Amino acid sequence: MKPKHLTLLITLMAALLGCTDRPKYGSVDEYPEYTGNDLGLTYTPEKSLFKVWSPAAEQVRLNLYNEGLGGEAFETLAMQPGEQGTWAATVSGDLNGKFYTFQIMQDGRWLDETPGIWTKAVGVNGDRAAIIDMAATDPEGWENDTRPPMRSFTDAVIYEVHMRDFTVHPSSGSSYPGKFLGLCESGTLSPDGLKTGIDHLKELGVTHIQILPSYDYGSIDETRLDENRYNWGYDPKNYNAVEGGYSTDPYTPATRIREMKEMIMCLHEAGFRVIMDVVYNHTYVGEESHLNLMVPGYFYRFNEDGSWSNASGCGNETASERPMMRRFIVESAAYWVNEFHIDGFRFDLMAIHDMETMRAVRAALDEIDPTISIHGEGWAAGDSPLPAAQRALKENARQFAPIAVFSDDIRDAIRGNWVEGDKGGFVAANGFEESVKFGVVGATAHPQLDLGKIVHSKTAYAQCAAQVINYASCHDDPCLLDKLKAVRPEASIEGLIRMDKLAQTIVFTSQGVPFIFAGEEILRDKKGVHNTYQSPDSVNAIDWNNKRTYADVFAYYQGLIAMRKAHPAFRMSDARMIADNIRFADGAPANTVMFTINGKPSGDTWSEIRVIYNGDSRPLTTRLNGSWEKACFDGRIDLDGLGSVSGEITVPATSAAVLFKK
Ligand code: CA
Repeated sequence: MKPKHLTLLITLMAALLGCTDRPKYGSVDEYPEYTGNDLGLTYTPEKSLFKVWSPAAEQVRLNLYNEGLGGEAFETLAMQPGEQGTWAATVSGDLNGKFYTFQIMQDGRWLDETPGIWTKAVGVNGDRAAIIDMAATDPEGWENDTRPPMRSFTDAVIYEVHMRDFTVHPSSGSSYPGKFLGLCESGTLSPDGLKTGIDHLKELGVTHIQILPSYDYGSIDETRLDENRYNWGYDPKNYNAVEGGYSTDPYTPATRIREMKEMIMCLHEAGFRVIMDVVYNHTYVGEESHLNLMVPGYFYRFNEDGSWSNASGCGNETASERPMMRRFIVESAAYWVNEFHIDGFRFDLMAIHDMETMRAVRAALDEIDPTISIHGEGWAAGDSPLPAAQRALKENARQFAPIAVFSDDIRDAIRGNWVEGDKGGFVAANGFEESVKFGVVGATAHPQLDLGKIVHSKTAYAQCAAQVINYASCHDDPCLLDKLKAVRPEASIEGLIRMDKLAQTIVFTSQGVPFIFAGEEILRDKKGVHNTYQSPDSVNAIDWNNKRTYADVFAYYQGLIAMRKAHPAFRMSDARMIADNIRFADGAPANTVMFTINGKPSGDTWSEIRVIYNGDSRPLTTRLNGSWEKACFDGRIDLDGLGSVSGEITVPATSAAVLFKK
């Protein structure tokens, strides 16, 4: 045989075996970036195109199944190598209803099957991808679904809710306990005939519903949902697929997608925006994750000794600085907006990501709709090999504005440190005045503040107030009532309610974006358990009987929200406007904070607002200039006024007062 023919034969055989001459890479840093947008599945009734990116794979195969779980592949195809590290296969005919996995060979070894990382529909437990017609998952009326208007992020009132907590307790009266559909069922009532579910949310007056992780996560066995296991869901398995545990049928891939869309559509119809909690910073497992089975070693960070780095505290951390991880995060966020009409994102442990990635997410969402919000945790849960100067840390927030960060400063100033259980904050112990003031100005620069005294930060990290989330508690750590009980075990329920109301008055009268944890408006607890990520319903479920028991607390939260919504003076965003128009009283006694807001520049109907927080155990008497109307006083709120006061006012212990002049 002539050498030319031999070469041709070898090339042909290699192509048949699927092992053409692929480039060799010294490290994952040399992998090419794929610049196309067709990874995963492109389905039509005529044919299905499968495409993956796995530059160092020696072979890639596609397995087709009739079932989402169990059974043998009815066909296995070798995928063909293509440009920029991709592999592709086209299958003709209508594959609707079938399932598939990919499998790569690297270093001479076949890895486990994976549905890939771009999959949008999965079978039960998310081990196989599903071939479906996405258009068929749209509920009726979906094409008319629109995002409720929002002028500024400081107009938002965020309500953080776990699907299961909200409707799983029998007192919720829900027909769909713990499911997506439960969040959009109207007409549900507590045993006392009080509104629960979405009707309760409307009654409360919040604007944004932040749902805990609802992408497909790994910790709940979807084949055993009758066992009623619980998890927060911070354990991602398939980023672009919906969690099956919240659907009425996790076996039928289109159902979970349709039900989540139904929930979002009905929240939109009720005027709420929907924020999704996203956890791109780590995966449920490392070595065997779908990311790692697709492109081993590429999507994660490692320590110098080769071990997995662990800034998430969950065993691994993703590497957003790598082009294809960054691209994946950006495209995934845009996908949730385009396909599911999501209105905002809460980035878990955002400081694991590099700032460039967060800016790229912001830019991509700006192209769709600049009012889509992004906020995140400006911290990590451990050390990362990525230098702090590159990471989306709270202290770097000005470099990734307008993405907002949670203020652990106002949180811990109000209710006490998150680690030291029995250490209280302003409402339950002494001190923290300067940190509370820092919260009042939304972590922006203010001439009257001594930043050296702030509980965590020593810089005014927010460029504008829209860049900071103010809160007293969230799903993490003890909820507000449990924390107050831990700090003041001797306190009566009346005393605890006083502290609770003062805490949220600080949140709602501060500049920034207020945020509450679901159920706190009816004085929920978590039975004193801090990290309830897998605690049973008996700990996590909201008991709606509380709505009658603590009707006064609910009315107060309603009042706080209504007051904030009616008065733009609490919703300024521009840092200069805040610095110019909020004036703290000099010489306020210990454990108190007093300030005046000039309401005119923000167009408020209240020309002047005086806010007094008395965190002390004694009443506070202070002089007043002229006559004022009381809008909030001693645990009651009435926007029309609770009567006038002049000369001086005595604010009872552990309470707030909001006074105004027309
Ligand atoms: Ca799942």
